[in-house]
Amino acid sequence: MFGKKEKDSAWKSRFPDTATCVRCLEEKDVEEMDRLLWCESCREMARRRAGVWGWGFGVILATTLAGWIWIVIKPSDVIIGGWIGTVIAALWIGSRVGKETAYGVLRFGNRKAVEAVPPRGEG
Ligand SMILES: [Zn+2]
Repeated sequence: MFGKKEKDSAWKSRFPDTATCVRCLEEKDVEEMDRLLWCESCREMARRRAGVWGWGFGVILATTLAGWIWIVIKPSDVIIGGWIGTVIAALWIGSRVGKETAYGVLRFGNRKAVEAVPPRGEG
C-alpha cells in the first residue's frame, strides 16, 4: 500500500520537470537548479563575476602591499625576490578571499530576475 515504488512515482508526478530560475526567469530543467532556484548558467555567471571582483581585490591588496614594502621596508636587491613572492602570495590569497566574498554577496543578495534582461553597454 505504501510501497516505495508507488511513493516515488507519486512524488515525481507532483513536481514538474522544469522550474523557473529566479535570476534569469528562464525555464530550466529542475535537475540543474540549486536550492535558491538558480540555474546552472546563472551560477556560472555569478562565479565568473565573483572571480573578476576577486582579482580586482587581489590586485588592490597586492599593490598596497607592494607600495608599503617599497616605501616602508625599502628592500635591498638581494631579498627583493622574497618580497615579490610575498606580493604574489597576497595577490593570490586576496583574489581567492575576494572571490568567495563576492560570490557570497551575489548569492545572499539574490536579486530576483537580475539576469532576465541582459545589461547593455557594460561589461
Ligand atoms: Zn538562470
